[in-house]
Amino acid sequence: MRIDIITLFPEMFEPVMNESIIGRAQKSGAVEIVCHQLRDYAFDKHRRVDDTPYGGGMGMLMKAEPIALCFEEICRQTNTQPHFIYMSPQGKTLNQGRLREIANDYSNVCILCGHYEGVDQRLLDEYIDEEISIGDYVLTGGELPAMVFADALCRMVPGVLSNNECFTEESHFNGLLEYPQYTKPSEWRGKQVPEVLLSGHHANIEKWRKEKSLEVTRIKRPDLLKSND
Ligand code: SAM
Repeated sequence: MRIDIITLFPEMFEPVMNESIIGRAQKSGAVEIVCHQLRDYAFDKHRRVDDTPYGGGMGMLMKAEPIALCFEEICRQTNTQPHFIYMSPQGKTLNQGRLREIANDYSNVCILCGHYEGVDQRLLDEYIDEEISIGDYVLTGGELPAMVFADALCRMVPGVLSNNECFTEESHFNGLLEYPQYTKPSEWRGKQVPEVLLSGHHANIEKWRKEKSLEVTRIKRPDLLKSND
């Protein structure tokens, strides 16, 4: 999976995307994350990436042309037309199901991080395949949403986690939340780990985990059970 990111702040991605699991996945070649400085594609007299909105109003808007030129360069470099996603509070809210589909359907994804008041609508109409939101609130820029999306997407790519079970057992993969988990010691400040987990009886452990997964979902997120009906 190759992920290209168009941003005014590529340096924000370095410390996050080069660490831990995603950093290792990049080193192993399972994923490649390439950030592009949008300012490098501003070729007008003043090399501007933003301007005032027609009709008046607060703030600045990102201009269409530098984004179009940057995306076209990415298409040339990769010899593909990546699935082009705009991180936007107006998009569909991201969930695990959509992440799975994107990981299955595309090996090249390009993410546009907006800033200021957003992006010229003509660019969005002409180039963007999908708008994705990370929740019903507004951030100052698309960089944090892009990192959230890229991290969650990379986890779905084969070879990034040590074992697929790492995510198939997790919350949201099958519409439920994960069962409670415990580590050593078996007794901590008078609290015992549930007996069944120490039994070594795999079928009973499996049954307990399924029941707990349902119970936790019923308590914390009953809306998930309703949407599964
Ligand atoms: N004026 C826009 C509106 O009302 O829809 C909001 C612009 S916001 C201040 C600037 C940028 O942050 C957006 O272009 C988008 O890329 C990003 N952004 C903000 N909130 C987001 C969210 N919840 N999900 C994804 N991206 C978001």
